[in-house]
This record gives sequence, structure tokens and C-alpha cells, in this order.
Amino acid sequence: MNREQHRNQILLQVGTIVTMNARRDVLSDCAILIEENRIKNISLRKHFKNYSGKIIEAKHLVAIPGFIQTHLHLCQTLFRGLADDLQLLDWLLKKIMPFEFAHNEKSMHASAMLGIAELIRGGTTTILDMGSISHEEEIIRAIGESGLRAYVGKAMMDRNDLFPKLKESRSDALNSTRKLAEEFHNSFNERVKYAAAPRFVLSCSEKLLRDVGELVASFDGMLMHTHASENKHEIATVRQMYGKENIEVLNALGLLSEKSVLAHCIHLNEKEISLLKKTKANVAHCPSSNLKLASGIANIPKYLNNGINVSLGADGAPCNNNLNQFQEMKLAALIQKPLHGSTSMPAEQVFELATINGAKALSLEKEIGSLEVGKKADLVLLNLNNVWNGSANFSSYYSNIVYSATSENVDSVMIDGKWILRNREFATLDEEKIVDNGKQELQKLLNRCEV
Ligand SMILES: [Zn+2]
Repeated sequence: MNREQHRNQILLQVGTIVTMNARRDVLSDCAILIEENRIKNISLRKHFKNYSGKIIEAKHLVAIPGFIQTHLHLCQTLFRGLADDLQLLDWLLKKIMPFEFAHNEKSMHASAMLGIAELIRGGTTTILDMGSISHEEEIIRAIGESGLRAYVGKAMMDRNDLFPKLKESRSDALNSTRKLAEEFHNSFNERVKYAAAPRFVLSCSEKLLRDVGELVASFDGMLMHTHASENKHEIATVRQMYGKENIEVLNALGLLSEKSVLAHCIHLNEKEISLLKKTKANVAHCPSSNLKLASGIANIPKYLNNGINVSLGADGAPCNNNLNQFQEMKLAALIQKPLHGSTSMPAEQVFELATINGAKALSLEKEIGSLEVGKKADLVLLNLNNVWNGSANFSSYYSNIVYSATSENVDSVMIDGKWILRNREFATLDEEKIVDNGKQELQKLLNRCEV
């Protein structure tokens, strides 16, 4: 083949590939052939010696699948550092809900861009975002323009006893959700998809929750994303209202299936665990957020032993305060060890949560989550040649990535076959402008805000 025939291709020569395929192959001296937005071939470098198309030489780097975070709030990125050291309900009432209420289009876009830039710098290529009650289009536009892959949806709330101004009628919540889904599901070259997002049981009427279940079942490819059983006060209130446990309520209202992603799931009884198992609902584990808000520690080893799919998310910047999958991986491993022993949550298993399990949670495991022929070209190149990585070698890649690496290790990020970050520089985003704009929009938002 001549160069012209290779014009939509890149041959990426790397030192090592941590594939996350079914055999969990870790390959050395290989190359990845990318054609348009998909992986066309993975083989030993010597098999490509007659290749005459574009070659990228990265033999000192390690290729991994892009990280997938399955619970985020891009609308909250501007509020980083403004809501520390509070428990969940105070955190929502006194800070987050008034701030979210004060958003306008510009501040929403600025908040989303700041979060997206941080995510990409940390090697995250796909997210599931909870959205906000208003200006959802700005979050979607920011994701679309940035090149990130995402399931998004506006937060739905037709009840709000904590902060009554932040809610809308059931019909408005449903109609705007349907309209956004029709407009944006599979938009931006299919990178953006829609997830209906009732915020949590207490923020929605019973009728709205039932309607969401019916909408998700009838809309091809739509997911359902909600918070569940994060806080003891929350589950006690649900018990009082419904006479049932939180997960039982979601099940009774038709909201549990393989298309459901439930953030947190910290306080579950045996019956609730078996309901998640039976319905194949997915758990998005957010260890930093759960520790910082003192919500508790979910029994993730038990969920995994029951065959429940668990993935990771940073939640929002004000309860973390980073959107960094390396931090979530390390904590996901460490917080279980004092409770379940040092052999619980080994590095390879945690790396699964951060990659292929995230893809399963989003029903995208045939498209992303591993580096395999036919999948979308969503990948991260890590530079593990640093003092804090020391002797990284073939037998310790999972350990090095989960326990030692940070965002500093991320050299390049490709999403949908396009470089978004290359040699630690953004290819398309103006980082300085994003940071400055975030500061300006936050100040204006605080001037509008009543707290
Ligand atoms: Zn959340």
C-alpha cells in the first residue's frame, strides 16, 4: 500500500500495551494501527516493518485504555474549595444547591470546560455526568466541542425539601429530558449519548420516578443515572416515606436494570444487594467523595463477589476535590484493606473498575474499555519513567498505575481517534483561557448567589 492508501491511519509504536482484553494481555514491542476512530490492528512492531503511512514513535510510553468515570457533576467544578468539611445534607442545602441555582449559561459552560480539561489531563476519556436542572445544553456543548466521550443528562427534580427553589414540575422535567435526548443522543459523531438523571429518590415524586423507568425502557440506548443510598439520613427518610429500603423503592418503581448506574450504594442490606445482582444494575463507587462527606465505605469486595458490576467516579469537584481517576483507583484499593484484609481489591481488579467495568456500566463494552481490534481508539499514553515509578516492569504495571502513578504520568490522550492531549500539551483546548474564564465566571456567580 502507498501513503495515500494509509491517509486515515496512524501507526502508534509503543513500549507496552496494557490491553484489558479478556485474557488481560500485557504486550511489549507492539504497535497499534488506528484507522479513523477505531483500532484496526495490534501486533508486534516487526510485523509493520513495510508500513508506509504515518508513524508515531512512542517506544518509551505505555498504552492503556482511556479511563471511564461513571459518576461526575461537571456543573459543580467551579465550586471546588467552597464547600469543604460538611456532611451531605448540609453540603447540599448550604452550598451546592444555591450555587447550582445561580448558574447561567456562561458559568455552566465555564464549569464544564474546567472539569473536562482536568479529566483529560488525568487520562479520563469517557464520563457519565449527572448534569444540572438548567442550562444542560452548555454541558453537552462543552463535551461535544472538547472531544470527550460521555453519557450526559439533566438532573431531574420535582421535589426539593432542602432548597425548594431548585426544582421544576414533573412534566417540565420529563419534557425537557425527552427533548434533550432526542436532540443529543448519539450526537457529535456518536460520542455524546443521553442518560436520564433523576437526582435521587428524595428529589423526585413517585410518579416522576415511574415515568423515568418507562422512558428509559422505551428509548433505545438511553441509560438511567441516579444517586442511591449514600447517606444514613437519606435512607431513613426514604424508609419513612415508602416503608421500604431505598434500593427496594427503585426496584418497585421499575428503575433497576442493566441500564441503571447507581452512584455510591454505601448502606445496603442483604436484600438490596441481591436485588442489584438480580437486576444487573451497576454501582458507581466514589471513594474520595464518600470519605470526604463522611458518608461511609461501600462494601465493594462483597458486591464484586456477588457479580455486581462496579466502576469508579470522582463525583463533583466540591466533594473530592479533584476529578482524577488515579486518586479514585488508589483509594478504592486502600480503604477496603483495613476492613477486609490486605489481599482485598488488588491492583489489577481496581484497574478493571477504572476501565472495562466502566464500559460495561455504560453498555459500551463492545466499543471502549480495552485496547482491542475493532474498538474505538480511546487510549492514554503513560510515561512511567519517573522517580516515583522507579522500577516499573512487565510484572508490575497494574501496581505502578494504581498505586504509584498520578496525572503527571499522562503524556498523551486520544479519544475517538483524535489526539486531545499530545506530549502533555492540549491539541485543541486553551488551558489558560479555561482557567481564567472559570475564575471570572465563578466571581460573577458568587455575586448572583444568595449565600
Ligand atoms: Zn454525585
